[in-house]
Amino acid sequence: MDATVQEFLNFNQSAPTAWHAVEALREMLQAQSYTLLREEEPWTLQPGGRYAVLRNGSSLIAFTLPRERPHAALIAAAHSDSPSFRIKPNAMQPGPNGAVRLSVEPYGGAVFSSWADRPLAVAGRLMLRQGRELVLRNVCTQGPVCVIPGLAIHMNRELNSGYAWKPNIDLQPLWAVGEAPDLLTLLAETAGVRREDIVSHDLQLVSLVPACVWGPEEAFLSGPRLDDLECAYAVVRGLTEAGESGSLALACVFDNEEVGSGTRQGADGSFLEDTLTRILDALAFSREDTLRLLSGSLMLSADNAHAVHPNHPEYADPAHSAQMNAGVVIKHNAAQRYVTEAVSEGLFAEICRGAEVPVQHYCNRADMPGGSTLGHIALRHVSVPAVDIGLAQLAMHSSWETAGARDLPLMVRALRAFYAADPRRTVDGGWQLWS
Ligand code: ZN
Repeated sequence: MDATVQEFLNFNQSAPTAWHAVEALREMLQAQSYTLLREEEPWTLQPGGRYAVLRNGSSLIAFTLPRERPHAALIAAAHSDSPSFRIKPNAMQPGPNGAVRLSVEPYGGAVFSSWADRPLAVAGRLMLRQGRELVLRNVCTQGPVCVIPGLAIHMNRELNSGYAWKPNIDLQPLWAVGEAPDLLTLLAETAGVRREDIVSHDLQLVSLVPACVWGPEEAFLSGPRLDDLECAYAVVRGLTEAGESGSLALACVFDNEEVGSGTRQGADGSFLEDTLTRILDALAFSREDTLRLLSGSLMLSADNAHAVHPNHPEYADPAHSAQMNAGVVIKHNAAQRYVTEAVSEGLFAEICRGAEVPVQHYCNRADMPGGSTLGHIALRHVSVPAVDIGLAQLAMHSSWETAGARDLPLMVRALRAFYAADPRRTVDGGWQLWS
């Protein structure tokens, strides 16, 4: 198996939630000599230095400073969260006939049927009282602890004709029957802390079924959370592997994309803008210097794309469908839900051509609006030419998604080449990608 794919499988398994994903990426970065900065502390940045900063423990920006004064910022962004079910503050919900369920509500646009009848774990983070301090700790149950039980076909003969899932009734997971162990006591034992020291929590249902490659030629990669952990992994791996360039290189992984990004740590928050401001202040950039740098910069919004479905090709635009194992997808949309335009597309396509990475063009069917993603939201805060890209996958937002196993290494290679570029504006208003 390809080493990049193997490393991704391990990363995916260690990242059941956005907090765990960011923790795993931070470890990856620190192993590559990135220094961890804290937002609440002063920053001392050195030319050629490698740094990472976290917000809320669930979003991360890693960056590399060039040795000389940069002409451009090269920014790639992906997201750390995926659809699931959040556990409400009073987690235990007694029901009829002694059944005790966990009290949950949907997070993002999950494919509900894919969450029923499969083992589910509980993961997230705890805030703990530790002496006079309050500290955060990521936690995950050691294995599955609940199931969302579906109805037997005998009780609803119409099940296979389509079913309208009612989240407050159908999607509450079974935890116990009769005497019910306390969820927080179980999590306290898992984390090696006392139940009474748990002050608050962010918890959700997660699938721990390990991702795998499969097929006669190991052509496919399936698992939970491929959207968007594939791209989150690729933007960070691409940054750590890129050689030195004259540009300021940033890899961003934002939380809360699945619920609109409108949080402090989301793409619609100020995290990227604040981080760029602190970096450019440290480099003694004036306001004009900053605006000049941004005008010549480039952003990749990296989020997975819909592959043409083998059983339902009618949902794809035949001339603009994305195929698994056919390279990096560039997404286009007339309404600019994908922000790709000729400049950003052209610069990215040239970078891919130089790196021998195939690209393919994706448009939604003309009568289907499709989802939006990070790009046009992030641009509200940092306005640079940007292109929406991703990897082709099936069953987006299912608890078990499928992608092409050969595409992920191509995305890492494209990102590596992107971060090694050194774009400059030319005197006649054009662009030069390498000096
Ligand atoms: Zn996504």
